[in-house]
Amino acid sequence: MAVIFALPVGAFAQGSSETNREKDNTKNEINSKTQKSMNTLNKNEFPQLPYAYDALEPFIDKMTMEIHYSKHHKAYFDNFVAAIKGKEMESMSLEQIFANISDLPAAVRNNGGGFYNHHLYWGNMKVNGGKPSAKLNAAIVKAFGSMDELKKQFSDAGKTRFGSGWAWLSKDEKGNLFVSSTPNQDNPLMNVAEKKGTPILAMDVWEHAYYLKYQNKRPDYIEAFWSVINWEEVSARFE
Ligand code: MN
Repeated sequence: MAVIFALPVGAFAQGSSETNREKDNTKNEINSKTQKSMNTLNKNEFPQLPYAYDALEPFIDKMTMEIHYSKHHKAYFDNFVAAIKGKEMESMSLEQIFANISDLPAAVRNNGGGFYNHHLYWGNMKVNGGKPSAKLNAAIVKAFGSMDELKKQFSDAGKTRFGSGWAWLSKDEKGNLFVSSTPNQDNPLMNVAEKKGTPILAMDVWEHAYYLKYQNKRPDYIEAFWSVINWEEVSARFE
């Protein structure tokens, strides 16, 4: 089966073998495996969190991470697998599913989006996550004028998203960056998105992403999120 789009996440990539998964647990190999895992997403396999639950402390607390990953993300994955089981979607890539999402059941939209979006989100967070590459930085300056302006637009997208949803930094088909936000578990790959593109930075603004530590103060969580952006990973997705 062909992977149609050159996306950061290849839905048809075959997942790691049992041996590879055992290696995943070896601390020495976590860095290289993390990089590899972000470039592939097998839609039939629940991916490991690429770090420990407390790895993003104090910005994102351990309990939030544990519940968010092991309960919320896992439920999206399980429900997505159940929703496509025995249907033609089972043989479609995630990209194909998202490109046709308006014609598919709500359970596929909500849970497929939840599965994919969280995978991106975990991967684009890291303490001391470096800086944007020269290429990404040039694209940021071209699109926004400055990193400060990107931060403002991205933060505003998260703050003004009413209810639950996501803020995104994506690149369009010409390679230009743009900021957007989507409701619920939608994402910019979906044909229902107002602005369509390939997401390279995802920020979850559902209350479950921040409520235990930040309560109702979503802007405080968003400010903290800027301290844990994995710019090396975001740069790799961009390029
Ligand atoms: Mn979430």
